[in-house]
Amino acid sequence: MTDCLFCKIIAGEIPSSKVYEDEQVLAFLDISQATKGHTLIIPKEHVRNVLDMSTQTAELLFSRVPKIARAVQKATQAVGMNILNNNEEIAGQTVFHAHVHLIPRYGKSDGITLGFEEHEPDFDRLAQLAQTIANEVSV
Ligand code: 5GP
Ligand code: ZN
Repeated sequence: MTDCLFCKIIAGEIPSSKVYEDEQVLAFLDISQATKGHTLIIPKEHVRNVLDMSTQTAELLFSRVPKIARAVQKATQAVGMNILNNNEEIAGQTVFHAHVHLIPRYGKSDGITLGFEEHEPDFDRLAQLAQTIANEVSV
């Protein structure tokens, strides 16, 4: 896609610090380095995000994650890692070419805070919602 930042990185029109490349996937350091070693993994096929992605592209993209994540962990000596994927603006997506973030973690004061509001479980609602989603999965 001509107007896509990550397609331009794939094409070599914009420089990047590459850590892995094969026929279908590219991984490079995120310019903002949320923590040291923050890496993005992208499919070479232009696709907006996971909500738009074919099973085949997902297999290609996600199958590379463990290998690259382990390499980042080994190289940085991180003690853990958040693996994130943002889909659409409300979820924090700012570049609309699908990507997976690898964010190495070093300790409680490494600048990363992730949190969810917890709610009391309502088991009837959970069962109902699970059924609604299950129906959609099988469509
Ligand atoms: P998102 O917010 O869409 O999940 O993540 C997009 C990421 O792309 C951000 O973390 C941002 O720092 C990174 N990014 C934006 N522009 C560039 C760039 O030109 N080069 C690199 N390497 N990363 C970029
Ligand atoms: Zn693209």
